[in-house]
Parts: sequence; structure tokens; C-alpha cells
Amino acid sequence: MTQGIVMKATDAEGPQDVGRSLVIISGPSGVGKTTVARALPGRMDLALSVSATTRRPRPGEAEGVDYYFISREEFQRRISENRFVEWAEVFGQLYGTPVEELERARRLGKMMLLEIDVQGGIQIKRKFPEALAILMLAPDDKTLKARLAGRGTDPPEEVERRFAQAKEEIRMARESRCYDVEVVNDRLSAAVDAVVSLLQKRRKQA
Ligand code: ADP
Ligand code: 5GP
Repeated sequence: MTQGIVMKATDAEGPQDVGRSLVIISGPSGVGKTTVARALPGRMDLALSVSATTRRPRPGEAEGVDYYFISREEFQRRISENRFVEWAEVFGQLYGTPVEELERARRLGKMMLLEIDVQGGIQIKRKFPEALAILMLAPDDKTLKARLAGRGTDPPEEVERRFAQAKEEIRMARESRCYDVEVVNDRLSAAVDAVVSLLQKRRKQA
């Protein structure tokens, strides 16, 4: 049995089938993962996984829509109860994909997009090799920094911290060989088109 996912012996589907419905998008903070992810359900039938996090909500973020916002104690408790498919500490906060999200994907019979960091993407890909893993990149460093600062949600020291981590995250992703494809988010509509086309291709293969 795959850790953290309950599969009844009578289930027709195995973990591989869940894996085929999973699409991971990772990449440095600020490359535009959330922006691209939010554009996808309007273009195709797709569910977005909602992660749990200990970080505070940014202005405009809603509980159960952007994240499940929980305390560190509650997060630790859920780790000990195996309630995350994967989890990682990112920029000093805990983030994890609840097991229930994968169960939701199975119930809906839809593809599910997981917008998670590289550590999490690697964990998912190792549990579910059939998942499609996309690494999203900014066209260049200057653009990445401008996007991090322009988002206006993080103080300057947090922007610096996230920018400094970008190269390491890309290196880790490439070295892991877990990522199937890289998408450069230069013009937004082109990046969304590229991801839609990857997902449609994947769906045809299913
Ligand atoms: P991430 O989820 O990867 O951290 P966001 O989706 O929050 O990144 O995007 C960071 C900032 O960059 C946001 O202000 C967003 O509006 C902007 N942005 C995203 N994609 C593009 C793009 N292709 N061109 C210009 N700005 C973009
Ligand atoms: P943010 O604080 O900007 O929303 O997210 C910070 C980082 O955490 C991003 O790289 C984002 O992809 C990642 N992240 C969000 N949810 C999860 C999750 O469930 N698991 C992991 N491993 N990373 C996540």
C-alpha cells in the first residue's frame, strides 16, 4: 500500500491510476505557478489540489480555496497521523498535500493539479511515477525578481530570500530527474497554452 493513501483491496483502480491523474507544477516562487494554475480550470476540466500550510493568509486568500491555514501544532499532528501525501518545509513554513485531495481527484474522476515545491514534487513523483511533473521557470532572473517584488504580498527581505532560493530549487529539480518537462512563463497566455496542451496530450494517452 502506498503510504498515506488508503486503497481498498476491492478497488478497481490502483495507485498507478491515481498517479496518471496527477499533474505537478513546481518552480521557484514568483515564476507564476499560481497565476497559470488559476487560468487552467477555465480552459479544461481540472481540479486544483488545496494544500495545508502554516503560513498566514495573504490579503485576498481564502480558507479552503487557496490553502487550509492551520497552526504548526495541528500540522505536526496531521503528519503523525499520516494525513499528508507529501509535505515539506518551505521558507520556514510547513506545506503539505492532504490525502483527502487525492481521494477527491479519484471521486471526481478528474485530473488534479498539485502546485507544490520541488521537494514535494519529488516525493509525489517517487510515489506515483505516472504523474506528470512540470517545472516552471521565469524567462530570466530580472523578470523573476520583478515578479516577486511586483506581487506586493511579501516584505523585501522575504522577496530576497525567495529570489536567493530560486537557483537551488531549479538545480534540485533538474538533478532529481523527476521533472518531465520545463515550461518558461514569459508571456502568460503562451505559458497557459503550453500547459493546456501538455495536459490535453496526457488526457488523450489515458
Ligand atoms: P508563484 O505562484 O509561482 O509564486 P505567482 O503566480 O504568484 O507566482 O506570480 C507572481 C507575480 O507575477 C504575480 O504578481 C503575477 O501576477 C505575476 N505574473 C505571473 N505570470 C506572469 C507573466 N507571464 N507575465 C507577467 N507577470 C506575471
Ligand atoms: P506560497 O507561500 O508562495 O503560497 O508558496 C510557497 C511555496 O510552497 C511554493 O513553491 C509552493 O508551490 C509551495 N507549496 C504550496 N503548497 C505546497 C504543498 O502542499 N506541498 C509542498 N511541498 N509545497 C507546497
